[in-house]
Amino acid sequence: MSTATLPKLVVKDLDKTYTVDEGGGKLSHVHALKGINLEVQEGEFVSIIGPSGCGKSTLLMILAGLYPKTSGQILIGDKRIEGPGMDRGVVFQEFALFPWLTVEGNIRFALSQKGIPQGKQKGIVDKYIELVGLRGFGKVYPFRLSGGMKQRVAVARALAYEPEVLLMDEPFGQLDAPTRGSLQKMLNEIWERTNATILFVTHSIKEALYLSDRVVVLSCRPGTIVEDLRLDLPRPRDPWDQKFIDYQHRLAVLLGGEEAGFF
Ligand code: ADP
Ligand code: MG
Repeated sequence: MSTATLPKLVVKDLDKTYTVDEGGGKLSHVHALKGINLEVQEGEFVSIIGPSGCGKSTLLMILAGLYPKTSGQILIGDKRIEGPGMDRGVVFQEFALFPWLTVEGNIRFALSQKGIPQGKQKGIVDKYIELVGLRGFGKVYPFRLSGGMKQRVAVARALAYEPEVLLMDEPFGQLDAPTRGSLQKMLNEIWERTNATILFVTHSIKEALYLSDRVVVLSCRPGTIVEDLRLDLPRPRDPWDQKFIDYQHRLAVLLGGEEAGFF
């Protein structure tokens, strides 16, 4: 098979069991993920949705190479992934910027890590600052930024070195509703303009429906995929469209409905 037809990201039979040392020689086990199989094509936007504690972050951390897996395989293109690497960009829920670096410095740091020559960095930094709507804020330190602006920087930093796949773990989860809405809109526009391949974790049904080509539903204990739904909805998404509402209902039922707080 030529590389052009390979999926960007492949997860095969992934399993994760945490072993927790309870002290006194006692070990306990948490089976967090079981038999996860997933493929993401180039340019696809895939959301992972599931209740709290069902293994979404575990999956993202393993894909980022930050946690070891128990068994299974992960491929980016035709490369097997065993640790962290610049082929993946990561955005977390916490505002994980370097506080001692300016907005520019945060983005530049990633470029230096990738070995992009100094002379080329300024142009790239400016391009991504512009892309996330932060023109004029390059010299500002993170403590002066709002939560939404910090996440804009985190997105710029993760995209600037042009990773093969962008991994996002509830990146807008700590933001108030209007800020969250504007960041969703920004991400949607960036995705359309850059053809980025994105795996996006959320526990918001609406957010998943607003952004994704596919929504993958995880169930709990252990985390398994119970549905992989390709959305047949025109873009931009309209939350008042009957089809959008039907999907919303279907996902809420899959996620455990009212009892689980999904209505
Ligand atoms: P989610 O992101 O969907 O809320 P997590 O991936 O954080 O879920 O957690 C999945 C399960 O794994 C939970 O039962 C959680 O308590 C457990 N878990 C997560 N991280 C650890 C860890 N470092 N050590 C032990 N158990 C963990
Ligand atoms: Mg989580």
